[in-house]
Amino acid sequence: MRFFNTLTREIEEFVPLDPKGKQVSLYTCGPTVYNFAHIGNFRAYVFEDILHRHLEFRGFRVRRVMNLTDVEDKTIRGCRQAGVSLSDFTKPFKEAFFQDLERLRMKKADVYPAATDPEQIARMIEMISILIKKGHAYLAEDQSVYFRLSTFPAYGKLAHFRLDELRPSGRVKSDEYEKENVGDFALWKAWDEEDGLIFWDSPWGKGRPGWHIECSAMSLGLLGPQIDIHCGGEDNIFPHHEAEIAQSECVTGLPFVKLWMHCRHLLVDGRKMSKSEGNFFTLRDLMDKGWTGREIRYALSKIRYREQLNFTIDGLVAARNALERLDEWSRRIHAAAIGAADPKSHSQLDTAAFGAALDEDLNTSAALGVLFDVIRDSNRLLDQNQLSPENSASLCGWLKEVNSVLCLGPDHEDVPQKVSELLTQRERARAQKQWAQSDALRDQILALGWMVKDTKEGQQLNKINRESK
Ligand code: AMP
Ligand code: ZN
Repeated sequence: MRFFNTLTREIEEFVPLDPKGKQVSLYTCGPTVYNFAHIGNFRAYVFEDILHRHLEFRGFRVRRVMNLTDVEDKTIRGCRQAGVSLSDFTKPFKEAFFQDLERLRMKKADVYPAATDPEQIARMIEMISILIKKGHAYLAEDQSVYFRLSTFPAYGKLAHFRLDELRPSGRVKSDEYEKENVGDFALWKAWDEEDGLIFWDSPWGKGRPGWHIECSAMSLGLLGPQIDIHCGGEDNIFPHHEAEIAQSECVTGLPFVKLWMHCRHLLVDGRKMSKSEGNFFTLRDLMDKGWTGREIRYALSKIRYREQLNFTIDGLVAARNALERLDEWSRRIHAAAIGAADPKSHSQLDTAAFGAALDEDLNTSAALGVLFDVIRDSNRLLDQNQLSPENSASLCGWLKEVNSVLCLGPDHEDVPQKVSELLTQRERARAQKQWAQSDALRDQILALGWMVKDTKEGQQLNKINRESK
């Protein structure tokens, strides 16, 4: 497997830190829960989901962490405006986030630590204390603690700039004269009136952690001092991930992350989709308009994570059409596979190219290309009555593999064992013209929640009362 590493700007062979080559640690920056996540955010999460699943498909054991940023300027502003506590303010957005993940068929991370979890705050305070002790951080007059950038000359290695090129940006707040150097960033923000009741006690007085330290502390605490892969959207590269490297490496003295992977922004009309631009769609917006989670997942995974993806309604229409083709094909091969002998020994079509495309820096466009080539070729064989039940069964098995990574399949490919046994019996009964037996078997299948229809291609199976796709 080879992936593009933002740190080296090269495509590198993937070798995990684990000497046995099995375990992979993956840290993925999560949402700021002050609003519903937009589908630009979900482009990042879908890319990470496919990465996670593909690593597992290739036999790695993945341990993954995704943080929830539930305290920073926007969440504080939001809860004060709403006149509720911080946790009451963020709770519905956290719940909505998990609901959205499910709708987009995402695999769960192992842990979703929240920045306000007491053990996370304790870890952050501990890390900041170590940084102060080592001279990498200092307490400023305003009682905030800042990272001393001059002690970490490697700052800039991820975003590829030199420290002396760092200039004050528009984001610099008016009170930043407290800092020794303009690039120094806050590890701990001293309480001020705007924070209201939101603060934690620390050795430096009451205050709250900075955003960057959150991810360093969680990664270190939950995945260890060094990890294999850290992901996010491209806007995370600087300053967030650059700061994470500085904090983590100054605490541990070890390289923090082996492979940095960033997805390009989702665009709308050529501009980054973002809350501040006001040009965003949430998953809910699109689902209210009748689009399904599966269609949106398709539209977001159609283009490889590192390439530009412009979001359009036409893209969703194309997704709908492609998925209809996939469903139709899935129905055909499942019907054609009934009564197959040993599916494993048969493979008429080249399906290995699918995994190979994902091995090559997660090329989802090429992988989908392989899928639709196989669909076209096997449909042609089916039209000519030249696809044997064994070959069809082997394609059904392959589709399962494809779906274990892309998760775009219809609901019905997971036909329960009992149902497929009954289908096979029914196929035999029909071949022997035992119509009464065939009807009885159809009723048994119906009782299990599946409807069989007889078509010229054989039995067609549909789940009854399918949930909305
Ligand atoms: P935030 O909630 O702003 O912290 O963002 C959560 C994740 O979504 C981060 O990994 C961001 O880099 C990513 N992200 C934000 N906007 C976009 C976008 N338009 N396209 C892709 N990823 C994005
Ligand atoms: Zn982060």
